[in-house]
Amino acid sequence: MELSGKSGEDITFANLRVHYGTGRSIHVSGTGRDKKFRYRYGAMTDLGDLEISKWKSLINALIEQHGEQEIQRQLRQWSKAECPWLRSDDEIEEYALRLHAARIFDDPAWAGYITFNRQHRPEVFETARLVWIKTSCCQKAGQITETQLDKAIYMDGWTRCPHCGRFSSFHICTPEEIQKEKEI
Ligand SMILES: [Zn+2]
Repeated sequence: MELSGKSGEDITFANLRVHYGTGRSIHVSGTGRDKKFRYRYGAMTDLGDLEISKWKSLINALIEQHGEQEIQRQLRQWSKAECPWLRSDDEIEEYALRLHAARIFDDPAWAGYITFNRQHRPEVFETARLVWIKTSCCQKAGQITETQLDKAIYMDGWTRCPHCGRFSSFHICTPEEIQKEKEI
């Protein structure tokens, strides 16, 4: 597949990132009461509104070009396990491709950043900045990223619990608490 846009620009993950889904009925044939429509489902990107199968083939070709099929497979597994609202394999596939286009695994604000990368990209933690916290729900020390900590300020001091996933108030662990955690 030719990986360039209408005006010949390179196609990148950034310009295939989905801003929102689009859907509309397209008039196929007939007039008046005999009008026939087909539903067109698409993705709004920096390259415009792409029909969904077109968008999928572009992002799949880009993933292949970058040799990232394995990470796409892992994103599908993650989506299937973590996103109960996704009902069909098609929905899981599309969701995982959206995550890939957004390069969500490099975003320390992503709720799955620590668990996904611990499992699949441990090298990320050589440079990732993490903070030990203790949430009021589970009362157990756990880690979040500094970015998630920054975000908590705008969430009235709440963050997603690293243990149960619920939003919870928390405190940053004292050095003694962290020490205790490391002894366990
Ligand atoms: Zn919890």
